[in-house]
Amino acid sequence: MTDTTQNPESARWHYHPDGPVSLNPLFKWPPRPAEVLKWYSGAWLQITALTLCLALAVTAYAFFFPPLESMQSFAPGWMFRIWLLNMVPQILVAGGLHWWLYMRKGQGMYKKFDRRDLTRNNGTFTFRNQVLDNIWWTLGSAMTVATVYQWIIYWAMANGYVPTITWSGAPVWFVVWMVFIPMWSGLHFYWVHRLEHHPKLYKYLHAVHHRNVNIGPWSGISNHWYENLLYFTTYFIHLIVPSHPLHVLFHASFQQISPVLSHSGFEKLKAGDTDAARAGDFFHQLHHRYFECNYGTSEIPFDKWFGTYHDGSAEATTRTRAYKKQMYT
Ligand SMILES: [Zn+2]
Ligand SMILES: [Zn+2]
Repeated sequence: MTDTTQNPESARWHYHPDGPVSLNPLFKWPPRPAEVLKWYSGAWLQITALTLCLALAVTAYAFFFPPLESMQSFAPGWMFRIWLLNMVPQILVAGGLHWWLYMRKGQGMYKKFDRRDLTRNNGTFTFRNQVLDNIWWTLGSAMTVATVYQWIIYWAMANGYVPTITWSGAPVWFVVWMVFIPMWSGLHFYWVHRLEHHPKLYKYLHAVHHRNVNIGPWSGISNHWYENLLYFTTYFIHLIVPSHPLHVLFHASFQQISPVLSHSGFEKLKAGDTDAARAGDFFHQLHHRYFECNYGTSEIPFDKWFGTYHDGSAEATTRTRAYKKQMYT
């Protein structure tokens, strides 16, 4: 925790990371190659949302993915399997993290951003309970829309309606596209999310997600149907950019599982006495507390470019509150 006399924002949090919230140094000028290397090795060479999602996608592809040829026509067998490939990891990761952090309280309050526990007995939430509300919107709404979109993509791939690659046919593109998928996801997310915050659209599309001012693992993709219809259009890039089914699996895993970690409410997951994995993301935690800031991710600094970047300081909170007021008057 930081000294609250230096940054009054610290007093508003249980755990407040030191210094400004970091952004991808790739976009800094003049170039900082050492910082960039550190950023990407931090993301790809330890347990993070990226590496976990890639591992889940590879496992799904190797052991459970139906043969592409079987998807040429819509048939219940493979369609049910694709639904399970969405549901099972979501339940395991969100359910597991929720159990460990919030029920078992496996690491107590260690690196937990917000002091408060998740909300119970509150009429804002479906079933008057934040966790049950979030589970319903995730497993009921988000998983349904994500699955239907994936059915369309796999069916189009299986029939050769869209450009599809193989590992042996295009190994370099295979890897390059895999690395760029998170960046595409961040770019798509920023613009969709900004649209959802338009005062005329917000209450129809995005208010369900923002019931969660204090967030937990199940809040990640706890979205209204209309928001999910927009949010998961990110997958349709695979109808245009030459892809392999593993790209779609990784994209889906990243789009669905990484928000579970980023909304977990804890910056790090502890194993024994050491920080074993990166989890929460203060950048997005600030978005849930103050709304009209940090619309994107730290991967592409759109918020910095467009003046909505909250760096975690009290001055940024004052500025965000003024901006919100002006948006709604
Ligand atoms: Zn939002
Ligand atoms: Zn969120």
